[in-house]
Amino acid sequence: MKVTQDAVVSIRYTLTVDGQVLDQGDLDYLHGHGNIIQGLEEALEGKQAGDSMSVVIPPEKAYGERNEEGVMVVPLQAFPQDSEVQPGMQFYAEGQDGRPLPITVLEVNGDEVTVDSNHPLAGETLNFAVEVTGVRPASQEELDHGHVHGPGGHNH
Ligand SMILES: [Zn+2]
Repeated sequence: MKVTQDAVVSIRYTLTVDGQVLDQGDLDYLHGHGNIIQGLEEALEGKQAGDSMSVVIPPEKAYGERNEEGVMVVPLQAFPQDSEVQPGMQFYAEGQDGRPLPITVLEVNGDEVTVDSNHPLAGETLNFAVEVTGVRPASQEELDHGHVHGPGGHNH
């Protein structure tokens, strides 16, 4: 079958940004539910098992543009006290929608910490090499949950 709305799609992927491989692996996802980035989901539409492709995804169809308002200064005491806060560390803050929001420490200056709440890949063009390794219909339970069950998916 072809990749279409509500299909469970298995892919093997390599993500490259600026010539550097950032991530690679195998993934099962439920197509058409926004479980993967928009540009990749669009590129996979209509493909079938055995198809390979390279996709270049601009920021607006990946993790969005960088927002300079996402860089802010917060007090050091807002961080867990059990570790020394250093540039490059990542923490999770609670976002406005209640979802965990990853923030990256840019600079520590006395009691003030400059952090960046932009996604680390915001503003980046992503290059994906993707192979479709399987396509199957979703079960009713998977559709009800909006995600894949079993190997590579949720186990519950
Ligand atoms: Zn579930």
